[in-house]
Amino acid sequence: MDHVEQLRSLIGEAKRIVAFTGAGISTESGIPDFRSPGGIWTKYKPIMFDDFMSSEEMRREAWRRKFATDEVMLKAEPNAGHRALARLVEQGRMSAIITQNVDGLHQRSGVPANKVIELHGNATYASCLDCGHRHELDAIRKTFLGAGKLPLCEKCDGIVKTATISFGQQMPEIQMARAQDETMACDLFIVLGSSLVVYPAAGFPQIAKRKGAKLAILNRDPTDQDADADLVIHAEIGSVMSRAVGVN
Ligand SMILES: [Zn+2]
Repeated sequence: MDHVEQLRSLIGEAKRIVAFTGAGISTESGIPDFRSPGGIWTKYKPIMFDDFMSSEEMRREAWRRKFATDEVMLKAEPNAGHRALARLVEQGRMSAIITQNVDGLHQRSGVPANKVIELHGNATYASCLDCGHRHELDAIRKTFLGAGKLPLCEKCDGIVKTATISFGQQMPEIQMARAQDETMACDLFIVLGSSLVVYPAAGFPQIAKRKGAKLAILNRDPTDQDADADLVIHAEIGSVMSRAVGVN
């Protein structure tokens, strides 16, 4: 059996699958890996959450960066890897997709929002840090780039920020707890496009293994956890997943 057939058979035998996705699945949609050499975070010093909260100038800088770099994300479309996962969710075989990505491409590929657990939030909209009210980026872009005005919540006057988890910001407790529950309940855990270095997220494959689930890792490069996996594939995600699941 080649690797794709092995993956197909692991998927076929599983009753409850959880996917864990990282930047690698979205680079195939043209979204750069911000952490990679030459990525955005190596060009700009990250804005820490506390600085964003305490400094109007930092908030201005954060929104300037956001709108200067947003075009790539706006243009990106889901790829065959996203579509394969969407099919497994639709078939009721995949109970959740835990993702480190903030691009919303799993939802755009047709996965219901309640099946996507976003550990690092979502960069395609903004929210009020006080009341949680959702704000659309289009409106913020117009008033920020047009009148130079920082967004304030129309419900409570709170500070509005892209709905991502910033450096120095607490991990989202509800999502972390849900990710843990899903991981403990699955019998196949598939990692796609994550180098598994960022904790606590990278701890999930270990949890799955300890609970007796099978572990498959699909990533372009080797990861620290390859030795623990039942199947390791170093290849492009879209082509492997579309063959393993049978979608285009
Ligand atoms: Zn508010």
